[in-house]
Formats: sequence, C-alpha cells, structure tokens
Amino acid sequence: MILSASPVWHPFTQHGLGEPIPQVERAEGALLHCADGSTLIDGISSWWVITHGHCDPRIVAAMQAQAGTLDQVIFAGYTHAPAEEVARGLIRLTDAALPSGDPLRHVFFSDSGSTAVEVGLKMALGYWHNIGAPRHKIVVMEHSYHGDTIGAMSVGARGVFNRAYAPLLFDVETIPFPEGDGRNTLDALEALCARSDKPAALIAEPLILGAGGMLVYGADVLRGMADICAAQDVLFIADEVMTGWGRTGTLFACENAGITPDILCTAKGLTGGSIPLAATLSTARIFEAHCSDDRARMFFHSSSFTANPITCAAAAANIAIWEGDDVRGRIAGLSAYMAERLAGLATHPALENPRLLGAIAAIDLKTGGAAGYMSDVAPALRAFFLERGLLLRPLGNAIYVMPPYCTSAPQLDAIFDAIGEAASQFGA
Ligand SMILES: *Cc1c(COP(=O)(O)O)cnc(C)c1O
Repeated sequence: MILSASPVWHPFTQHGLGEPIPQVERAEGALLHCADGSTLIDGISSWWVITHGHCDPRIVAAMQAQAGTLDQVIFAGYTHAPAEEVARGLIRLTDAALPSGDPLRHVFFSDSGSTAVEVGLKMALGYWHNIGAPRHKIVVMEHSYHGDTIGAMSVGARGVFNRAYAPLLFDVETIPFPEGDGRNTLDALEALCARSDKPAALIAEPLILGAGGMLVYGADVLRGMADICAAQDVLFIADEVMTGWGRTGTLFACENAGITPDILCTAKGLTGGSIPLAATLSTARIFEAHCSDDRARMFFHSSSFTANPITCAAAAANIAIWEGDDVRGRIAGLSAYMAERLAGLATHPALENPRLLGAIAAIDLKTGGAAGYMSDVAPALRAFFLERGLLLRPLGNAIYVMPPYCTSAPQLDAIFDAIGEAASQFGA
C-alpha cells in the first residue's frame, strides 16, 4: 500500500497504484506549467471544460472586477446584474442557435453538470406533478453518463463506477445506442412512449456520448428522438454539459439536428471552463407549471452558491466572446486540422473506429485483450503521454483529443504523433 504524503483524495484516482500526480502551477492557452518546470499540452481541455484557452484575459478580468464588487449573495428572492446578464445571454444565444419548436425561456442556475442534470430531472418530474398528471419514469440511452450524484448516476450507465451504490439508484428504462440508421433506438423509444405508464422524460447526450467512450450517433437519430418525444408528449432533456459551447462544432449539439429540447443542461464550458457554474434552461410551460399563488408548487431546489456573482461574471464574459469573436470559425479550423491528422492515424494497424465531431477526435486502440474503462492499457497510455508532455486521458482503449480552441497546429501535431507512437507500442 502506497502511503502518500498528501492528505488529498483525488477523483477517479486509484491512490493504491502510486501513479505520479503532477502539481500544476500556472496555465495559459493550451499549456499547463508544472512545479517541476515541465510543460504539458492540455489535450483534453482539463476534463472537457476549457474552451477558448486557459486564463483567457477577458474572463480573468471579469472575475477580478466582480470579486471586489459583489462576491456572493443569497439567490432565493434576491438577484444581481451578472446573473441577469447571463440568463438573458443564454436565452439570446439559444434563440439564435435553436430556432425551431417551443423556445427555451427560463434559466435555473446551479454549480456543476451533475446538479444541472438533477435540476432538469426535478423540473420534469415537478412539471407532471404540478399539472396533476404525475409520471415518474425516465428513459435513458445505453452507455450514457450524466454525472456522479445519486440521481445523475441513476440515469447513467450501470457499471464498475456505481456498483457499490446500485441498490440505491432509481429504476430507469433504457433504449439502445443507435446502430446503423438508428431504427433500433427510435423503435425502442416509441414502444416505451406508447405504454400506458408514460415516461416523464427522455434524457440524452446529444450526438456524442462522452464518458461512455466518445460514441457518436447521427443528427437524424437525435431529431427522431426529439420528434417522438414531442408527438408522445414526453419531455426531452438534452444533457449538453459536455457538448455545449462549441465542442461539436456548433454552439450546442442540438443545433446540428435543428431541435429545441424542453430542458437543456449546460455547465463545463459555460464560464469558458474557468470556474464552476451550471444552468438548466426550460421552456415556458415547465416554468409556468411551477408558477402559481400556491407556495407548495414552487421549484424546491437550491444550493448555497446558486448563481454566484463571480462565476456569473465569468459566464457573461464567455457569452460576450461567443457574440463578439468568430469562435465557430476557430473550431472549424481546428476540426479540419484534426480530421487530417486523424485520417493519418486511421490506417495504423493497431487503431480502429476513427471519429470526429467538431472539436472532438477519437480512435480506439486494438488491445487484443480486455477493452473498456478498466482495461490496463489506460494507465499505461496516460503515463506514456505524460512522459511526452501531453495531458491525455484515454477512456479505456478509446483515445480521444478534445483540445482548447486556441491549440496550435504544432501542438496538435505533438498530440497526434504521440498517439501513433502509442499505438505502435501498446496496440495489438
Ligand atoms: C461531465 C458531465 C456531467 C457532469 O458534470 P460535472 O460538472 O462533472 O458534475 C454530466 N453530463 C455530461 C454529459 C458530462 O459530460
């Protein structure tokens, strides 16, 4: 047993393996500067959060100014300018990006992707309860990930991650991951919606399942799911926690499919990835079902730091960047370059299933043995990349690149060259 000198207990870290834990001191753009003087290229945007780049000066300045003006205030019954600005900005952006269907009109703040999902689920259940037609079933997609709190785990894939808690997770209905034209998924959803015990909602990661292994499915399937939900009056919750803020090439992934969900969850890139803030957006009908002169029908959710002003200032600065800069153009350039480099890797005999969606590239390493998250190859790959000055963290044998949008061509070359080398060394 390794006894570390540090009392820190890290997330998704097996301390018993004694893997090195680099200490990061400073970050700028796509680079992390470590205490030992080494530099790492942040190939996964520090766990999918950083969008424009680390320490974007506009976001830093906004947080600094806010920190000395209003640091924190209760948000139950009180408001402040940064939160108002972010809420209006989110409605403005989603109105422009998601023009079809019932528009998103209300914004509920929380602190993380998991809580954005919890809030979305509670909004959906609260809607059916408050209109006097209670429903309790949630439909989820196979291989999904929606966070690590109990409710978010309940709607995510079951596995080694949550085995210890499995008896406490609530039951859900699962539709299969799309194959081919996705008929398997749509037929299963249709069958569940046709039951007398109608589902309250479908929750899905639009276009790409992140933690499930960067599994991509088509916009037509996403549109098909949203259409079935609309026709059957089942609420559609889009978990855009990872896909939002340009990761799939558009502001939100739902934009690719031309759909507007009933509820949209956003977090990670909402502040450009600088500081934690989440939001759950809803249509007017969901808000209105909670709005009456009966205090028992209010939305019963809060956290101490709901809409913290410093985090909202960061989000407002991020929204200004999206409205002022050609962020989409920058992502398109990054995506085109990654497509070229990924095509080069696709012919490697130890690599298969190359996939690219916006600013996300992924490819699977043939291991000849156990694949999946617990595959022994993942820590070995992590160490291999770390030695080469790269922060990459494969999901089992799925190697993916999700860089900040400022990442340069030479930095991408270093990443993709190393993936090729790793395939030659560890692949079967
Ligand atoms: C990361 C993630 C979450 C959880 O977000 P946290 O901020 O880590 O709680 C939820 N859903 C998806 C799709 C994610 O990728």
